[in-house]
Amino acid sequence: MTRLNGKVALVTGAARGIGAAIAKAFVEEGAFVYLTDVNDEGGLVAAGEFGDRAAYARLDVRDEADWHGVTDAALSARKRLDIVVNNAGITGFENGATAHDPEHASLEDWRAVHATNLDGVFLGCKYAIRAMRPVGVGSIINISSRSGLVGIPGAAAYASSKAAVRNHSKTVALWCTAQGLAIRCNSIHPAAILTPMWEPMLGTGPERKARMEALVRDTPLRRFGRPEEVAALATLLASDEATYVTGVELSIDGGLLAGSAANPG
Ligand code: NDP
Repeated sequence: MTRLNGKVALVTGAARGIGAAIAKAFVEEGAFVYLTDVNDEGGLVAAGEFGDRAAYARLDVRDEADWHGVTDAALSARKRLDIVVNNAGITGFENGATAHDPEHASLEDWRAVHATNLDGVFLGCKYAIRAMRPVGVGSIINISSRSGLVGIPGAAAYASSKAAVRNHSKTVALWCTAQGLAIRCNSIHPAAILTPMWEPMLGTGPERKARMEALVRDTPLRRFGRPEEVAALATLLASDEATYVTGVELSIDGGLLAGSAANPG
């Protein structure tokens, strides 16, 4: 387990879910990992599991001053930053059911989703390049979504923000190559990965099982994905096994987008 030996990584939204799984996989592969989040309590617990192989830092991805401070602190302590995973994201449904269709969504809700999902990734890429430029090598991994590849009538801002992440990843990849830098940038597009993000939509009680089954009915593998499965893909992109991979989008969706069965309800 040494595919990331000697590398320093920063993962956003790492207190739980996919971000926590990516941080764990990176530590297991030999990296030192900065777990960052706005959930300080969860972030400290998650980072605490890895002893001196990780540290927690508060980083609200919407806040440029946070990016400045955390990347400077990482460079000062570790002298390098090799991997940045822009993972933090919100659906807009965190506080319950709200209209997110194109006809009824409020501008405020639309902007709030884009602030985290898109502005956060823009800043993450900007500060990753700034931190990686002195060495000239690095891997930026942006967590988009299946929702960035198809229209989602009930989650317009989420879909729009994730589509923009897909495109911006390619722009960043090309910018870096044009600068003569071996800084790679790729996007990962998960669908239906069982994390706390789903809790407000799944609920509790007897309907939970039926809701879960309904949500993966159109998924060819007929199940939710696991955060560890996304982490495995991120590990590959972060490692030196993927040094010729840049500007690509990788789906991890149980086969959902392979055919025409997808129902973007
Ligand atoms: P979770 O909601 O489980 O975890 C997201 C983490 O990000 C939370 O700890 C959350 O903190 C944190 N966070 C929220 N806003 C910010 C912010 N402004 N700055 C820093 N951290 C923040 O999500 P998942 O693990 O499920 O998702 C991770 C990524 O994967 C997201 O980008 C998501 O869109 C994407 N994705 C997930 C899919 C899935 O099925 N799970 C499918 C497709 C894409 P807090 O809880 O305090 O808000």
